[in-house]
Amino acid sequence: MRLVLIGPPGAGKGTHCKKLVEKYGLKHLSSGDIFRAEIASGTELGNTAKEYIDAGELVPDHIVIDMMTAAVEKAGDYILDGFPRTVNQAQKLGEALEVKGCQIDAVIELMIDDAVAANRLTQRRVCLQCGGTYHLVNLKPKVDGICDVCGSKLIHRDDDTEEVILSRLETYHKQTEPIVEYYRKSGKKLLQVDAAGEAGKVLDMIIDKIENI
Ligand code: AMP
Repeated sequence: MRLVLIGPPGAGKGTHCKKLVEKYGLKHLSSGDIFRAEIASGTELGNTAKEYIDAGELVPDHIVIDMMTAAVEKAGDYILDGFPRTVNQAQKLGEALEVKGCQIDAVIELMIDDAVAANRLTQRRVCLQCGGTYHLVNLKPKVDGICDVCGSKLIHRDDDTEEVILSRLETYHKQTEPIVEYYRKSGKKLLQVDAAGEAGKVLDMIIDKIENI
């Protein structure tokens, strides 16, 4: 199964992807995670990407497309998280998959109000080691600042500050949301889910829609 997960920052893409990966045995292909790993390793790609990420802007298409089509070409069943983020990226992904003789099976759109997303992000703390995600009020770690799963230190992402979040949400509406219409017009199965509720319930709704494909 090949899935694309779309949603604004703060919609819970990473959280739900982890569960879907476990349930369906998919590879989790997250463009944001790949960039953060490149930044942590101090690579040229990471240094270039960091400038855009810290400003709440999208990394230029040609960089992301090369990186993600290479990842997709190596994977069997997967869920794409954070890619594509522009219509151009979606088109180029479609072309790369056509060459490979396959296509995306379904596109999941997580829908959430900007205010709810912004609140989640300012209170979010993440583990860069295992990808665990916490919320200072709703999903506290057992020990302050430490990941329950792997014991690593939790961080507040540089791009989870109020100013950058506003810019990321604006970028989402302008550049990423049109992808939904693009996929709808191209006849892809579109699974739209209200992502504002409790994580377990949102996940159940996603699974229900996947099972009905
Ligand atoms: P994420 O972890 O998915 O929220 O991604 C963090 C940041 O990485 C985004 O705000 C962008 O600056 C950059 N990024 C991730 N995926 C893409 C993409 N598909 N296209 C452009 N920039 C991206």
